[in-house]
Formats: sequence, C-alpha cells, structure tokens
Amino acid sequence: MSFISDSFFQFSNTINGEARSGSKVTQAVNPSNKQLLWNVPVATEDDLNGAVAAAAAAFPSWSQTPWGERGKLLLQVSETLKANLKEMASLGMQETGKPINYATTEVEHSLSFLTYHGNHPELAPKTVEDNDNFKLTVRYSPIGVVAAICPWNYPLVLAISKIAAALITGNCVIVKPSPFTPYSILKFTELVQSIFPPGVIQAVNGDDMAGPFLCDHPGVQKISFTGSISTGKKIMAAASRTLKRITLELGGNDACIVCPDVDIGVAAPQIAVGSFLNSGQFCMGSKRIYVHKDIYRPFMQAITDVVKSWKVTPSTSEADNTLGPVQNEMQYNIVKRFFEDSYTFALGEGTVPDSDSFVIRPAIIDNPPDKSRIVTEEPFGPIVPLLSWTDEDEVIRRVNDTNTGLGGSIWSADVERADRLAQRIDTGTVWINSRPKPLPMGYLAGRKESGLGGEWGTEGLFSYCNTQTVHLYRTVAPRPTKV
Ligand code: NAD
Repeated sequence: MSFISDSFFQFSNTINGEARSGSKVTQAVNPSNKQLLWNVPVATEDDLNGAVAAAAAAFPSWSQTPWGERGKLLLQVSETLKANLKEMASLGMQETGKPINYATTEVEHSLSFLTYHGNHPELAPKTVEDNDNFKLTVRYSPIGVVAAICPWNYPLVLAISKIAAALITGNCVIVKPSPFTPYSILKFTELVQSIFPPGVIQAVNGDDMAGPFLCDHPGVQKISFTGSISTGKKIMAAASRTLKRITLELGGNDACIVCPDVDIGVAAPQIAVGSFLNSGQFCMGSKRIYVHKDIYRPFMQAITDVVKSWKVTPSTSEADNTLGPVQNEMQYNIVKRFFEDSYTFALGEGTVPDSDSFVIRPAIIDNPPDKSRIVTEEPFGPIVPLLSWTDEDEVIRRVNDTNTGLGGSIWSADVERADRLAQRIDTGTVWINSRPKPLPMGYLAGRKESGLGGEWGTEGLFSYCNTQTVHLYRTVAPRPTKV
C-alpha cells in the first residue's frame, strides 16, 4: 500500500503563485517499466510570457528583501522539503529510474544546497581603495529574472542548486525541467510556493519550444543551464541576441588516474561507484579510468568483481538495487551503440538485450585504443574503459587530450604526487583520493567545452549578481581636469 496520497501525484505548472493546468498535457515514462507516468501540463507561450511578467513584477520587492530574510525563507524551504523527503524520493525514483536509496540521497543533497545557501553570509562589497578623499568599492546586486534550464539525470538537486543561489542573491527564478523528468521540480515548486511572494519561484514544464523561448525572451536577464554541450552552444548563440548573462554547466569526459601505490582493495570499490553511479549518468562520473601498468591486471580483477556483485534491476521502493535503468529511450539507444563497437569486455558483453525496462547491465572495457569512441566520447551510461599507463607525462597528455574539462580524480598513497598530477589536469575540479562527490560549497566550473562560468560555493553566487563599481570622492573639490 502506498504511503503517499493520490493528490501528491497531480502536477501543474506554477505561475504567479498559482497552479496552472493547461489544455495540452503530456506524460513522461518510468524507465524501470516503460509505463507512462502522470499527466503534466505543457506550458504555452502565454504561460511562459505570464511567468516572465510575474517574475519581473516580483523582482523589485524581492531584490530589496534583506539577504538574511531571504536566507530564512530558504531554510523554511529546506524544512518543507525535509518533511516530504520520502514522497520526493519516491517521485525521483519513478521519474529517473534511480534506486530508491540514491533518489533519497538526491533529496538529501538538495537539502544541503538549501541550507548552505540559506546560511551563506551576504556578499559584502569589496573595498579596493580607501583613503581620506576617496573610496573605490565593488558591490553586488541581483540580475533580475533568471531562467534555470535543467537536465534529467539529477532533476531535483541540479534545479535546487540553481534556485537556492538565484533566490539568496535576490533574483526571481523560473525553472524549466527536462521534459523527461518534470515531476519532482514541479512538485517541489508547488510545495514551497506559499513561502514566497508570487512570481519569486515558478516552474514550467514545456515542450521543445520552451527552452529556446526563454533564451530569446527579452524579459529574462540570465540563463543558468545544465545539460549537453550541443545544447549549451545553442543557448550561447541564442543568448547573444539579447546579451543575456549565461552560466553553462555542460558535459564531461572525466578521467580517473590510479597510481601504482594505491591499496587496490580500498580504492577499487570507490572508483567503481565513481564510474557507475546513477548508471553512469553523472556529469562528473569517472568516464575513463587510467590504471598504472604495474597494477593494471589486479585492479581490473578487483573492479570487475565489485561491479559484478551489484544488483542491477529496475527500481522500485522495495528493490535494494545498486544500479537501475538509464533514464530514457533516447539515452538507452545512445549507450547501446557503445556496446556494439568491438572491444574486449572485462565485464559484460557486446549486446544489450531488449527488456521491459531501460536497464543496461554494466560493462568494463579492457584497454581500448585511445582513439576509440568509448575513450573520446561521453557515453553517459554504464560502460567504462580501463586504460593502462606507464609514466606521468604520458598519462597527463592522454587525460588532457579531450575537448572537455569538467573534473577528474587521482588516487595515490603519495598525496604530494597526486597533487602534482592534479595541477596538470586541465579541468575545473579535481578529487584526490575520493570519487567525484560534488559539494554545495565547492565551485563547479567546467573548462574547455564543459562550460562557461560556474556555480556553487561563494564564487558561484557572483554569477547571479551584477557588479557595480563605485568611485566615491568624499568632497567635491576643485580639481584640474584634463580632456
Ligand atoms: P540536454 O542538453 O538535452 O537538455 C537539457 C535541458 O535543455 C532540457 O531542459 C531541455 O529541454 C533543454 N533544451 C534543449 N534544447 C534547448 C534549446 N535549444 N534551448 C534551450 N533549452 C533547451 O541535456 P540532457 O540530455 O538533459 O542532460 C545530459 C547532459 O548534461 C550530459 O551531457 C551531462 O554530462 C550534462 N550534465 C552536466 C552537468 C554539469 O554540472 N556540468 C550536470 C548534469 C548533466
């Protein structure tokens, strides 16, 4: 029997503080059983214009609400989400396909973003120069209406991280979830609506029109986007027409370097999770594992044994699976094609049998050529190559030989050596002796085609602010003026 009331599974857009249904509805698919999920309205141009107008109307007062007050409201949001944790985890599991434990972790991670931002001190003006006659300061103010355009792999936490940063800095936010996973963010926005004045936080599910429409809209001042590199480029082009501010958090092809001095028994299980978490649909997941040649074979044996021991099944509230399905049919077909390339499989095989779900059993590829697709592209699925390396210069050159630069990880008993390698990796983030584990206080900014600008942490808050440089002369003194 379900512990959740039926009304929890009714969904609407939230515009100007009100639940808005629509004449057109759609349904996303539960990847664990390919069944259609609940009806969800598809926003029209009128809806989107209404949302932008409501946000613009709310902005003057919201932007003047003291920082501390906005922080308290975010902490209230966190309490509301916490009170609905089980329900939201169930929703997340059903729309993403991830195991219930990991869907629960996503809600918990969302809470940590809310509390981090709710408790973050105000961005103080920066004094550049200060003397008897003159003071030069840089101060920070909100940008205006922010559109948060989100992907399907972590639909709740990636949206909430944008919402929390946008709101604490005094912006109004319109969230557009992926059409593959609209439910948890629409429900979240509905649950927290009464905490804010109308128009401060809104959410709209849309079809293919909605994202481009918001990017073109002259009433939107900033786009915060997380998603694929190809869409990121389209957003950058669209934003140029109105010179919107943009933050792009895009795809990666992150490498993990395993040095010969690691304790294989301790490192291999963690590296396995770092690669296969969320069935490989994790932007910062380790997508290429470079293992020193001296330990290559035993490491391969160890990581293969770990992954083989996992339960890989469709996700239900009762299943204790480690991996669930990939999230949607489009992604399933993309991942399937990687299996069809001819590799030596250390785990798995070159076929993906059809089934009643989008489950793909995990695969590990044994030392494929550097130029093979599994090494050069982001599969975003449960298939990972192991590559053997010999010396540091060589592994760094191979790791950096990519158009992406999101993150990377290094494992070594010698922390100085690991840090030396870390400095040579051309990525925005690096983990040493840990699997990739994003934290709300850790700035995330992809290099190369992995992004533009960044989010999270104190640095990330600046991306939601305009700066104003103030040249203050304490007296109006006569001065010689050169023209
Ligand atoms: P996607 O680019 O297909 O879609 C993301 C969002 O953009 C969706 O809401 C979609 O509706 C919208 N969209 C699509 N076309 C648009 C357009 N022309 N204008 C405006 N909006 C548009 O990405 P996805 O498949 O949902 O997500 C997977 C990708 O996201 C992977 O490449 C992954 O690595 C990346 N990702 C990056 C991060 C990060 O923090 N860097 C985090 C998660 C995922």
